[in-house]
Amino acid sequence: MCNHRGITLWFTGLSGAGKTTIAVSLAEKLRERGFKVERLDGDVVRKSLTRDLGFSKEDRDKNIERVTFVAKLLTRNDVIVPCAFISPYRAERARAREEIGEFIEVYVECPVEVCAERDAKGLYAKAFAGEIPHFTGVSDPYEPPENAEVVCHTAKETVEESVAKVLAYLEQNGYLCT
Ligand code: ADP
Repeated sequence: MCNHRGITLWFTGLSGAGKTTIAVSLAEKLRERGFKVERLDGDVVRKSLTRDLGFSKEDRDKNIERVTFVAKLLTRNDVIVPCAFISPYRAERARAREEIGEFIEVYVECPVEVCAERDAKGLYAKAFAGEIPHFTGVSDPYEPPENAEVVCHTAKETVEESVAKVLAYLEQNGYLCT
């Protein structure tokens, strides 16, 4: 069955879990196959669209609310939209799902110890030293998804395996026919 249409792929997980890495590789593979793709990423959006926001619960919710609006517009114009956001609150992710409609949640699961060991952005060292308040997984909550369509265990999988899982889900559900 062919159902090609726009879809938001919502990557959620701790900082350093692998959201951006998976989303970048996935976007590349989809573009090679001729799909329209627009990636939204927390680190980028927070320097532009939501640069006025911080990391309180209220600001995190506003961040996701604005991104949801953009993802919704793209999705309804038949774009594949990988979104990489920590998005720690279940309620806010549920709101994004409801608002966008065509929505697949990808839980990028990785133990905080492994994220801290990777410390790709040098943030965990500072967070553990108490220099960054409201740091998800250290001094701020993260509510794991209960019913994500795809779960990537990045401490146990290679990047290629994690990306393949998401692609397989899209294939099996008819999103990638042309
Ligand atoms: P996030 O976007 O979640 O903050 P990043 O993608 O910036 O995380 O960083 C994740 C790091 O973990 C990268 O250095 C990446 O190479 C590494 N990594 C190891 N295994 C995986 C995997 N299976 N999927 C994604 N990233 C992985």
